[in-house]
Amino acid sequence: MAAFVIGHMNPDTDSIVAAIAAADLYAKRGFDVVAAAQGAPTPETEFVLKKFGLTAPQVIDDVAGKDLYLVDFSDLAQAPKGMDSATVLGIVDHHKLGDVTTSSPLEAWIWPVGCTGTVLKNMYDFYGVELPKGIAGALLCAILSDTVIFKSPTCTEADKKAVEALAKIAGVDDVMALGMEMFKVKSAVEGAAMSDLVFRDYKDFDMNGNKVGIGQLEVVDLSILEPVKAGLQEEIAKVKSEGRHSVFLLLTDIMKEGSEMLIVSDDPSVVEKAFGVKAEGSSVWLPGVMSRKKQVVPNFEKAFK
Ligand code: MN
Ligand code: MN
Repeated sequence: MAAFVIGHMNPDTDSIVAAIAAADLYAKRGFDVVAAAQGAPTPETEFVLKKFGLTAPQVIDDVAGKDLYLVDFSDLAQAPKGMDSATVLGIVDHHKLGDVTTSSPLEAWIWPVGCTGTVLKNMYDFYGVELPKGIAGALLCAILSDTVIFKSPTCTEADKKAVEALAKIAGVDDVMALGMEMFKVKSAVEGAAMSDLVFRDYKDFDMNGNKVGIGQLEVVDLSILEPVKAGLQEEIAKVKSEGRHSVFLLLTDIMKEGSEMLIVSDDPSVVEKAFGVKAEGSSVWLPGVMSRKKQVVPNFEKAFK
């Protein structure tokens, strides 16, 4: 039985591309694996897969009894159903260590870098496995996506170095132009359902016993979101009513380098505790805040203590 290589819930480009790349690498090392995903690709990921001639991984929602390699996460809250009886054989990730545990030793590559794609590039090098051109291009895009074209505070020298090497393999001459093209696709919200937008890049967290949802939409100009803001606010109120303490939605302007955060919470004072700014009504502008992982989650975790 082939093991699944799978990324987190509501998969982003990194989760999808890392599953494809890790499955390629594990297979070439002789492991019986298949790439999987907990959902269909977003428009951004579709753009990347199409551009580099790759197929989306099969979608699965239950991993009971399966062998698994996790990519881009190690939190049970972001895992599929059936984790209790699944066996985790490996993790490739760049987040804080989550609460997944194993009964036997595993191969774990968890680096404090901007993207799983960067870790994978280094794994190919470590194992001396040749990187296919298409996968190199897709990994490059995953890094540009996760690091917001190097602007996110999560971006490291290792990410920049990986992009340089991947661009050579993929034959990409203008990395910045490719990044902007991708973010323009990501910015398109016309015709999308409000719930699709809220869950496009959304994660639930356990914060001191409180269920807290944090979503993020990254656009090249916040004015793009003006027509849908009221609808988004209504949608996160609905998501909160399903048993959450708070739901926050970050509307990130990648050019202005900051985020407007839409807020619905049992205790809105956590926002002031976390960021030192008082919310006006149901939203707040957070200058310089680009990264949920590095700037938003840790601040809220402290505020909820
Ligand atoms: Mn991710
Ligand atoms: Mn990632």
